[in-house]
Amino acid sequence: MPRQVTLADGRTVEVECLSCALTSGLIEPTGGVIYESRNFHVHQDVAYPIKGLVIIASKRHIYCMDELTPEEQLEYISIIHKIRSEQRKSLVIDKVYYFYNEDTTHHFHLWMVPRYEWMYDFGHSVESLRPVLLHARNNMNTKSNMLEVMDGINTLRKGLKDFVSNSG
Ligand SMILES: [Zn+2]
Repeated sequence: MPRQVTLADGRTVEVECLSCALTSGLIEPTGGVIYESRNFHVHQDVAYPIKGLVIIASKRHIYCMDELTPEEQLEYISIIHKIRSEQRKSLVIDKVYYFYNEDTTHHFHLWMVPRYEWMYDFGHSVESLRPVLLHARNNMNTKSNMLEVMDGINTLRKGLKDFVSNSG
């Protein structure tokens, strides 16, 4: 069943699966594609304006970790590792929270949420994740913070592009 999705920049689209629409290029994410490989697609959901936050989605419409092919398994860990390295090197992100659930209305995707000092006001570990994301969505959509978020997107894109050319 198609459903209406309102994007962070106000566009409304009707899609079967938002992840399919993003990974196929039907919808351009705000800030653009950060990285794309044969089987995965990396972007930021600017509805949650946290600098350096990324979402890695599979291109195939699957839900569960055990659905990954052997090729996808290797590519997946390699992409996570490279993004994490780039977050540390270029954005000086010391810690990252990873969030992935299989009962999603989108398809297979991993959130990588950088951990900043202000987030500890919302507690530690998994119970703080949702309050942190809601706080960002409701209170951090300012012009200056959006510029920071866009800078994060561009910095990661550049770093990951160099990675591709280096590794062939
Ligand atoms: Zn899908």
